[in-house]
Amino acid sequence: MSQTSGKAVESLSSRLGGILSDAFKEEDSEDELPGGPVPSKKPEAKSAQPAADDAKKDTPKDAQPAAGPASGAPADSSSLRESQYDVQVTLADQQADPNSPLYSVKSFDELGLHEDLLKGIYSMKFTKPSKIQERALPLLLQNPPRNMIGQSQSGTGKTAAFVLTMLSRIDFSIDKPQAIALAPSRELARQIMDVVQTMGKFTPVKTAFAIPDAIKRGEKVQAHLVVGTPGKTFDLIKTRALDPSAVKVFVLDEADNMLDQQGLGEQSIRVKNTMPRSCQIVLFSATFPENVHNFAVKFAPNANEIRLKQEELSVESIRQFYMDCRSEEHKYEVLVELYNLLTIGQSIIFCARRDTADRIAKRMTDEGHRVDSLHGKLDNTERDKTIDNFRSGRSKVLIATNVIARGIDIQQVTLVINYDMPLTQKGEPDTETYLHRIGRTGRFGRRGVSINFVHDAESKRQMETIEKALHCTMVPVQTDDVEAMETTIKDALKAA
Ligand code: ADP
Ligand code: MG
Repeated sequence: MSQTSGKAVESLSSRLGGILSDAFKEEDSEDELPGGPVPSKKPEAKSAQPAADDAKKDTPKDAQPAAGPASGAPADSSSLRESQYDVQVTLADQQADPNSPLYSVKSFDELGLHEDLLKGIYSMKFTKPSKIQERALPLLLQNPPRNMIGQSQSGTGKTAAFVLTMLSRIDFSIDKPQAIALAPSRELARQIMDVVQTMGKFTPVKTAFAIPDAIKRGEKVQAHLVVGTPGKTFDLIKTRALDPSAVKVFVLDEADNMLDQQGLGEQSIRVKNTMPRSCQIVLFSATFPENVHNFAVKFAPNANEIRLKQEELSVESIRQFYMDCRSEEHKYEVLVELYNLLTIGQSIIFCARRDTADRIAKRMTDEGHRVDSLHGKLDNTERDKTIDNFRSGRSKVLIATNVIARGIDIQQVTLVINYDMPLTQKGEPDTETYLHRIGRTGRFGRRGVSINFVHDAESKRQMETIEKALHCTMVPVQTDDVEAMETTIKDALKAA
């Protein structure tokens, strides 16, 4: 499970208590295991929000086909309409089922939100809140504000819960940063900003990024709401480019990851230590392993808590398979054999190492396939371009490290492949990362397929450990008979 013991995290926090002077590190260095440090990124002169324009292009996401077309044929507009209709129908069913994480009793109108925010919500075609939105929002908006530790399965709408909280608490007549959200990767920070701008488009909110290359040296952050990664945010606070004195809401998305991992944890704690005492601390994630949770309750004292049981963590609409491969080389061969299936919808292939991702991508490209690789070693412009191309559907297959294992919400992703099983820094099976990786599909009630590649006794054992921890079953698919393999996955994707 998670790699940091409660004790280690505690000593980390006491070691760091209030110390702001150490040299800071850049974030995003945790995208592979084991991994070297990311070369520091040179800040370039750019506008304060380089991603905003690109980001806007990507929204609204609901305007795009919900799930991939059921066959390999290009979808015409009628089949697109049909598949969108299907998703809406099943979504309505799920939102009416009390056992579904998407269920709610109330409507958004009953949650006490400002009408400008309701307009934003309805412009995104949200009809009813999900369970986490319905339960968390009243707690998040109560006065005096209380901290929150909120857990809900991947793809159930946690972003809206904290974005609406941030936008609700800002006094737009005051020109100071009042809400900060931190995320573990620049890709996720940019996506959250997308949601802020879409949901807040009927408010006068001013926003800024605190991610590498976004703010010019010497420039001050003049915005109500900031979305960033922890290292850059701390850098801006330390150099007095970002004034934290009026911040009312401080959010950590993917909070267990933000508090657990050495680099991100240190930076998140440093940022938090600069926040006013009265600041509301909001932690969200699909996973809170016990040792990190023990630290989270200290980080966000007296918090309202919404927790899930271990057996509730899996998203039921994701069908999980595995393929027994004979060797590392055979994994590659199987992946290539699957290529036609990868592009029915969109796919993410997760590798343990950046060089594996690059190597596979290069080999497949040389063989005439269209794939991209994404990891923390690419420069920022390249990273932004790669994820934007994938988000818009211009590219359909992404070979990535854990840098995009968390949070990324692209509804057309129907297939996730664990080319390498996810491992912790100690080399143990990483159940949390597994859940987050496969959670890149099956968003908000949609169906999805995941396939684990195992190629020896050890990787098989790693998978079985995860299977046990999640109380789920991973179904074997034969790799010898290519046709049968294709049919099985195609059928599963059709259901997706
Ligand atoms: P999480 O952070 O819980 O993994 P996200 O916040 O990324 O999930 O939301 C997953 C998807 O569900 C997004 O595409 C989002 O736009 C959509 N979504 C969120 N809330 C609702 C809602 N109430 N109704 C319909 N779609 C929603
Ligand atoms: Mg999320």
